[in-house]
Amino acid sequence: MPRYAGRPELLLCGLLLGGCATGTPPPAVATPTASAQAPPTATWTPSTTPTATTTPTPTFPADALVDADGLNLRAGPDTMHPSRDVLLRGTPVALEGRSHDDRWLAVRSPADDRGWISAEFVTLRRDLAGVPTQITPTPPPSPTPTAIPMDPSRPLVLVPPAVAQGEPVLIRLREPGAERVVALLDTVEVPLHRLDGDRWAGIIPASPDIAPGQQPVYLTVIRPGGEAVPMTEMLTLRDGHYPEETITLDLEQTPERAAWIDPAVRDGELARLTELTRPVGAERFWSGTWRAPITPTVSSLFGGKRDYNAGAYRGRHSGLDLRARMGAPIRAPARGRVVLVETFVVLGNAVWLDHGWGVYSGYGHLGEPRVAVGDWVEPGDVLGLAGASGAVTGPHLHWEVRVAGVPVHPARWLERDVGFAP
Ligand SMILES: [Zn+2]
Repeated sequence: MPRYAGRPELLLCGLLLGGCATGTPPPAVATPTASAQAPPTATWTPSTTPTATTTPTPTFPADALVDADGLNLRAGPDTMHPSRDVLLRGTPVALEGRSHDDRWLAVRSPADDRGWISAEFVTLRRDLAGVPTQITPTPPPSPTPTAIPMDPSRPLVLVPPAVAQGEPVLIRLREPGAERVVALLDTVEVPLHRLDGDRWAGIIPASPDIAPGQQPVYLTVIRPGGEAVPMTEMLTLRDGHYPEETITLDLEQTPERAAWIDPAVRDGELARLTELTRPVGAERFWSGTWRAPITPTVSSLFGGKRDYNAGAYRGRHSGLDLRARMGAPIRAPARGRVVLVETFVVLGNAVWLDHGWGVYSGYGHLGEPRVAVGDWVEPGDVLGLAGASGAVTGPHLHWEVRVAGVPVHPARWLERDVGFAP
C-alpha cells in the first residue's frame, strides 16, 4: 500500500480554488465531531426538511453560523464544485446533510438557497450526529458562462487575467489585418483561431512548472505578405500551492510493482501522452462548462509533486483522482472525438478525447473502455467503466486534461466555460 506523507484532508480545502472561503480563513473555532462512523458506501438520503411547497417556518433554524468573510455555497461537497453564492460572516444556515467525513455540510440559507459549505468555517449550534449523511448527484453544467465582452480599446485580452500555476488561459484578440497569429507562454506555443472577421481566440496552458509572478504572453501577428507584428500581455500567475507527496511502495511484498516506478516505463508513457495531446486543431468541438465524468469526490489532488521510494522516481501528478466504485460509468465531460484507447503499465486501461483547439481529456485505470478510436462522444456519453487497472491500489478514476501537451487542472473546466469567446 502506498503511504501518503501529506495530509490530503487539509490540502483539499486549501488548494482547489484557492480555499473554501475568500479572504484569510479564521482560526477553526468549530471542529465537527467525528461522531457516527461513516458507512463505506454512500446512499442517497432524502432531505428531512420541508419542501418549497410547505409554508415556511416562522423562525429560521440557525443550526450553524458562518464564521468566515465570504464562504462559498457550492453545488456539491468539494471545492471543485462551482460556487453558487457567497455567505457572509454571521449568516445562519439550516443543516440538511453532511458528507461522510463531516467536512462538508449541506445547508439552506435564509434566502432559501441550498448548497454545500465547508464545515471548517462554521460555528455549530447543534450536534451533527442527528444530521443525515448525503451525497449529491453530479451538478448540471452551468447554463450561463461569465460573459466578458470584447473591449475595443483593448484588442488583446487574457481571460482570466490572473490564474494559478497549472491553469488554462483564454487569449482573445481583435486584429483586422492578421493572416495567422501565434502565442507563446514560457516554452509553449499555440496558434490562435479566427472566430470571424477580425476576432481571434485560443487557449494556452500555464504549466504547473512556470514560476509564479508576472509572466509575459507573447503574440506574433503575421500579416499578409509575411510582416510579423509582436504584441505582449502580462499574465498574473499565482502559486498553485502544489503539495509534495512521498509514496513508498513495498517492493519486497509486491515485486511486480517495480515497473510502476521504473523511470523508463513512466517517462515512456508520459512522452506518448505528450505527443498525442500536443497537436492544436483549428476547430473547437466543445462548448460551455463541462460536466464531471463521475460524481467529483477528489481522492488525490492535481499537480502534487510525488517522490516514490526515496527518489526512485520523481514526478508530478498530472491529473485529478476521483473516487469511483468498480463498474461505475465514466462519462464524457464535453463533446469530443476518441483518439486513444490503450492499456498502459501506469495509467492502466485509458481513453483519451480530443476536444479541439489543443484541448484533450484522459481517463485512466478503467475496468473496461466502451468506446473506440474515431468515435464522437457527446457530454454524458459513457466512455467506459471505472476499475483498478494499472498502477493503483484501489478503484478510482484518474482524470486528466491537457492543452497542447501540458497538463492543466481538470476542475477549472467544471467551473467556467474556458473557451467562451463572445
Ligand atoms: Zn491519478
